[in-house]
Amino acid sequence: MRQITINNGEKLNPGKIVGLGRNYLDHIRELGNPVPERAVIFCKPQSSLLENGGTIILPDFAAECHHELELAVLIGKCGKKIVAEQALEHIAGYGVALDLTLRDLQSELKDKGLPWDIAKGFDTSCPLSAFVPADQIADPNNLNLLLKVNGEVRQQGNTAQMMRSIEEIIAEVSIYFTLEPGDIILTGTPAGVAKLNSGDMLEGSIDQVGTLKVSVA
Ligand code: MG
Repeated sequence: MRQITINNGEKLNPGKIVGLGRNYLDHIRELGNPVPERAVIFCKPQSSLLENGGTIILPDFAAECHHELELAVLIGKCGKKIVAEQALEHIAGYGVALDLTLRDLQSELKDKGLPWDIAKGFDTSCPLSAFVPADQIADPNNLNLLLKVNGEVRQQGNTAQMMRSIEEIIAEVSIYFTLEPGDIILTGTPAGVAKLNSGDMLEGSIDQVGTLKVSVA
């Protein structure tokens, strides 16, 4: 994926991809993680991006790749230490993303106190739809998310269940990183994460935002 597409015809070069962990309480509980005081933030490389309709390649260095359906936020305006009240002005659009995670490898690295980038950043680990312009979404903090795998519902939630709102996420991430046009923020996943298998067909949808369809090789 060389460029990010916005549904108004605009294109942007992708910047950094910032992921937020543990932002839905039901997902924190299903993995048995403690509720974080500070946001859990990680980055995925641009080489992890996969376009809509693409094929996920499961790496051979882990056994368990989990799907995580997430609302993606596209940054359109540069900012550092953005205040929550102005955060929405920095958003160019919203998309549907999967934050694929090698859960067994991540757990092993976490247990050792090591960084888990390789469990999050492998090639094709970030399938991403086209983006809907921000002004077409009335309230990004109240959107239904639904992921079906082989036609069966696996994940279902609403962004209203996020512990940190979109505005709070942008404010907190921009404390650590300057946000630049083309940067993508993955806002966390609701419960229902599970293992992917070869041949699976995934269909993730977010109300008003769109649908992302990918398959597993
Ligand atoms: Mg995630």
